[in-house]
Amino acid sequence: MLTRAQKNEALAILANTYPGAKPALEFSSPFELLVATILSAQSTDVMVNRCTRELFPVANTPEQIAAMTEEELFPFIKRCGFYNTKGRHILETARILVAEYGGEVPADLEKLQTLPGVGRKTANVVGSNAFGIPAIAVDTHVFRVSNRIGLAHASNVEKTEEQLMKAIPREDWTAAHHWLIYHGRQICDARKPKCEICPLAHLCEYRQAALKPGMASKTKKTTAKAAKKKD
Ligand code: SF4
Repeated sequence: MLTRAQKNEALAILANTYPGAKPALEFSSPFELLVATILSAQSTDVMVNRCTRELFPVANTPEQIAAMTEEELFPFIKRCGFYNTKGRHILETARILVAEYGGEVPADLEKLQTLPGVGRKTANVVGSNAFGIPAIAVDTHVFRVSNRIGLAHASNVEKTEEQLMKAIPREDWTAAHHWLIYHGRQICDARKPKCEICPLAHLCEYRQAALKPGMASKTKKTTAKAAKKKD
């Protein structure tokens, strides 16, 4: 179990390693971020950006999207997985925003979660990145990396979020979400973490356990199982 000082050290290392970490999704308004985040489930950010670069010049406001039919919207998002379901959620969300919120995305995590296709993770992403509301969105990278390092010890995303909110100063919640995603993408790969070049290796519980005689294979199996479950 990492001490408070060790957790702070790990966070300082992440902050120094990934200064200026920001969302990989491209957006220029809260509504664009909301649409992009709904599309990002089970899709890569690269693929989502390819879709929205074609969609947003045509329609990027709740009014414009709400006026589209499925047949008009779906071709733009077809390269994202589950585009039928996501497309319907985007259309319904746009219509609700027009009818109930004056065409604005609510700057409120609870209200965001009432929109179709918007769960806690999506609400946290939109709330923190579009409105500056402190929040930690726990995606597959944040879940895996924080539990490997020892910033959290949880079996699901809800508990991981709760524990990270206790471990990380509130003012760093949004940045820490990005640090952990960058680290997961660049070094702490789900199946082949590059522990030998990782600046957190001296603190990381996963790494330290793997270095103990007889623990390597057990740790690898446990993490591979967790990664498979969350991917
Ligand atoms: S030491 Fe290895 S498992 Fe731990 S955070 Fe770094 S890459 Fe991930």
